[in-house]
Amino acid sequence: MVREEVLETFVRVSREAGGNPSSIHRAGRHAQAVLENAREEVSEILRCSARDILFTSGATEANNLGILGLARAAERLQGKPLLLLSSRAEHPAALAPLRLLQQQGFPLRLVDIDRHAIADVDAMLEHQSSADASLSVVQWANNETGAVQPIGAIAHSCNANHLWHCDAVQGFGKLALDPSLWRATTLSLSGHKFGAPKGIGVLRLSPDAMLDPVQVGGGQQRSLRSGTESPALAASFAHALRLALEEQSGDAERLLKSRVYFLEEIQKLGLPFHCNHSDENGLPNTMNLSFPGLDGRMLIPACDADGLEISAGAACSSGAALPSSVLVAAGLDPEVARASLRISLSPDLQDSELREAAKRLGKLLRRLYEVAKR
Ligand code: PLP
Repeated sequence: MVREEVLETFVRVSREAGGNPSSIHRAGRHAQAVLENAREEVSEILRCSARDILFTSGATEANNLGILGLARAAERLQGKPLLLLSSRAEHPAALAPLRLLQQQGFPLRLVDIDRHAIADVDAMLEHQSSADASLSVVQWANNETGAVQPIGAIAHSCNANHLWHCDAVQGFGKLALDPSLWRATTLSLSGHKFGAPKGIGVLRLSPDAMLDPVQVGGGQQRSLRSGTESPALAASFAHALRLALEEQSGDAERLLKSRVYFLEEIQKLGLPFHCNHSDENGLPNTMNLSFPGLDGRMLIPACDADGLEISAGAACSSGAALPSSVLVAAGLDPEVARASLRISLSPDLQDSELREAAKRLGKLLRRLYEVAKR
C-alpha cells in the first residue's frame, strides 16, 4: 500500500513539476531540480554520491541492469565471461538474468541453500577463490522465508575482480541497515516494498562499478538508463524510504510481537504444521508455514475466498500451481511445499485485524484438514 503522506507527495510533485526533466525550458528545469533533489536525498540515505543512484521502474529492472550490466561490461573489458555465482534462494528477477547470461556462455554455479533458504556462502567463496573474476548475486533477505543472508562474508570478499550484486529489496524498512550493503558493486531497491507507489526502484552503484546499459535511447542517467525519469515517483521514493528507515525499529518490534501472537493462535489449533522461516535470523514481518497433508492447490484459493491476502511464493508467481522453487530447493517435498503459505504482516495491522485474520485462517485450516481426512 502507498503511504498516505507519500501519496500526497506524489500528487503534489506531479502537479508542480510536470515538465520533462530533460527539457531546457523553465518547466523542464524545475522538474530536473526536483528529480535531482530526490536523487540527492536517496544518495544521502544510501551513503553514496548522487551520480551513483539510478532510478528504474522497480527492482526487476534494477536487478537486470545490475546483473546484465556488470557481467557484460566485465566480459567486454576482460575479453572472457566471468564466473556467475548465486543460489536458488534468489528472486526470479535475479535468477532470470543469470539464466540468460548462462545461455549466452557465462558459467553459472548455484550453491545449496539450507532449510530456511540461507545460501551456502562458504561454497560460494570457494568457487570464487578458484576464479580470476566473478559476479556473486546474493540478496539481503529472502522474500519467501524471510531468511537474512550472510552478506557480511560476501561484502568482505568483494573487490575490483569479484563483484557483488545485492538484491536488497526485502530488507529496507524491515531490518536495521547493515554497513556490508555499502560494499555491494550494485544494490537494488523497490519502492513499493516500503510505501512508495509501484513503478519506481533504484540501482545504487559503487563508485568503481563498470556497467553496460541494458536499455539504450535518449542517454538519460549517464546513458546507463535511458528513458524519461519521473520526478514525482523519484520524490515519492525518497520520501517513503526516509519514513521507512525512521520507523524501522519500532515497526520491527511490533511485527515480531504480532508474529508471536499469530503463531500461538495457529499452534492452539493442534493441527500439524511447521515453520520454514527462521525465528532468530529473519524478516520480522514474514512467516512461512507448511501444512503437510493439505491439498496445496486448495489453500491459496480458500484464503482468497475468505478475504485473506496470502501468497504461496513470490507474489508474481503465486497464481501458478507449481510449488515454490525456493522451498523445494530448501529440501521440502514438492507436495508439502505446495501446501505452504507465506504470510506477510503489515506494520499498519491493528490488533483487532490481526486477531480476526488468525481466527479466519484457523477456521479455514480446520475445514481443509477435515476435507483432507475424508
Ligand atoms: N527482488 C525481490 C527479493 C522481491 O521480493 C521482488 C518483488 O517482490 C523483486 C525483486 C521485484 O521487484 P519489483 O516488483 O519492484 O520489480
